Amino acid sequence: MRIILLGPPGAGKGTQAKSLVERHGIPQLSTGDMLRAAVEQNSEVGLQAAAYMNAGNLVPDEVVTAAVRARLVQSDCRRGFILDGYPRTVEQALSLQDMLRELEAPLDAIISFTVDEDALAARVEKRSQEAQAKGQAPRSDDDPEVLKRRIVEYREKTSPVTAFYGALGLLHSVNGMATIDEVASEIERLLSTVSS
Ligand code: AMP
Repeated sequence: MRIILLGPPGAGKGTQAKSLVERHGIPQLSTGDMLRAAVEQNSEVGLQAAAYMNAGNLVPDEVVTAAVRARLVQSDCRRGFILDGYPRTVEQALSLQDMLRELEAPLDAIISFTVDEDALAARVEKRSQEAQAKGQAPRSDDDPEVLKRRIVEYREKTSPVTAFYGALGLLHSVNGMATIDEVASEIERLLSTVSS
């Protein structure tokens, strides 16, 4: 099963990706996690990405696409994967189409999380508090001002990706305002309608 999760920050993509990993035994490919790991390691990619991430801006397409390309060819992606946070621009979606064509690995479903924008700030605040309660450092970009910028980036650059996949007939929507379990059931229901 090859799946993309699309939605604004705080929509619940990461949570649902993790539960899909457990249920389907395929890896989660989160570009946010890849980039945060690169920043932590002070790698070349991390040095290129950090300033964009801290400002709430998207990292340049070529940097993120190179990271995804390197990941997609690994053997654990042969049975499928869950892309979480990629593609975020139409340019990335086009690159992904090329990569998947080369790998002869067509997408099964794109799941778009619809959410009430007013709820996102509260959700992201909650995520920060939960991280702190677990003794983890909250994400530096889960700051209210940076979040505003991330939402603008989503609206301007990522929303068109939804239209792109809609035109390909692969798009499904879930109500991201429902509970975690309800969203998970809805995703399973719609995945059962697409081929594996
Ligand atoms: P996320 O964890 O998915 O919310 O991503 C955190 C940050 O990483 C984003 O605000 C961007 O700065 C960067 N990022 C993650 N995925 C992408 C992507 N596909 N394209 C560009 N920037 C990305």
